[in-house]
Amino acid sequence: KVCSREPREDHRICVCVRKRPLNQRETTLKDLDIITIPSDNVVMVHESKQKVDLTRYLENQTFCFDHAFDDTASTELVYQFTAQPLVESIFRKGMATCFAYGQTGSGKTHTMGGAFSGGDQDCSKGIYALVAQDVFLLLKARAYEKLDLKVYGTFFEIYGGKVYDLLNWKKKLQVLEDGNQQMQVVGLQEQEVCSVEDVLNLVELGNSCRTSGQTSVNAHSSRSHAVFQIILKSGGKLHGKFSLVDLAGNERGADTAKANRKRQLEGAEINKSLLALKECIRALGQNKSHTPFRASKLTQVLRDSFIGQNSSTCMIATISPGMASCENTLNTLRYANRVK
Ligand code: ADP
Ligand code: MG
Repeated sequence: KVCSREPREDHRICVCVRKRPLNQRETTLKDLDIITIPSDNVVMVHESKQKVDLTRYLENQTFCFDHAFDDTASTELVYQFTAQPLVESIFRKGMATCFAYGQTGSGKTHTMGGAFSGGDQDCSKGIYALVAQDVFLLLKARAYEKLDLKVYGTFFEIYGGKVYDLLNWKKKLQVLEDGNQQMQVVGLQEQEVCSVEDVLNLVELGNSCRTSGQTSVNAHSSRSHAVFQIILKSGGKLHGKFSLVDLAGNERGADTAKANRKRQLEGAEINKSLLALKECIRALGQNKSHTPFRASKLTQVLRDSFIGQNSSTCMIATISPGMASCENTLNTLRYANRVK
């Protein structure tokens, strides 16, 4: 099957896939790598258990995206093709978003740079830090110097349809619509930041808040959406905003029957929000007049990123390479395929 990329009418949506390497555990269990990236925008899933030879498999499924990154790609490279092109738009009063979407353990947090310190990763190499770096560079650029912009960061979590401030001890916050039909997270901490270092400190603070009191980092973070925002203000007024969203894991509870009531409700809420997100991004891409943002808290909070001529979005769908993850990987690829 030939995979041709159709030319895109507008560049408001960019959908990419990033494959992570097989990890120690998968290697030990002799899991097979069933994903190949034959060119820079094609992902192939080889469902058959057997390779015919080193280069041929029995069955393939092919998906096309704006870009596809194999397990040798650095986060910096992924950044260059996804979030980086959107950074300048927030200086021109734009709303930019970048989503990491995928199964738990596929590399969303690794890509975003939201791993808590003491872990095996360095948050200074993630997309949060890379966006911050470019924002502070552009702030000094001639064209934007005279705007007298200030930079602020927010970091919050959406869990079970509720919003919690990660910069304020997980305080529960209300989301209300103001007179201008804007959704406001009431009382959300906005911290002024003056350097990349300041931003990294916020990320660290939020991450430690996110995981505090949890027995396992992934058990909790896989069931909540984390939203980190870099906000530009001029004269105290909103100028532009970049939202970086580490989404809840998209896996379906395989053993729903065994799962307790709480887990079932969590799962239903996650499904609802990911479905709403898909519809909102599609509406943005098709310039539809109606955006169904009310369907979930996540899309309500991000309303101003889906509406308006100056909004653009990128999605990084992260996938695990192993045969054991095949079903989840296919679900991720199908979802990402529908969004673009
Ligand atoms: P998620 O947030 O999607 O649940 P994580 O980002 O926590 O997944 O990744 C799970 C594990 O895999 C982490 O230990 C992480 O360091 C590792 N990992 C993820 N993506 C990559 C990658 N591209 N290269 C190397 N290691 C990765
Ligand atoms: Mg994570």
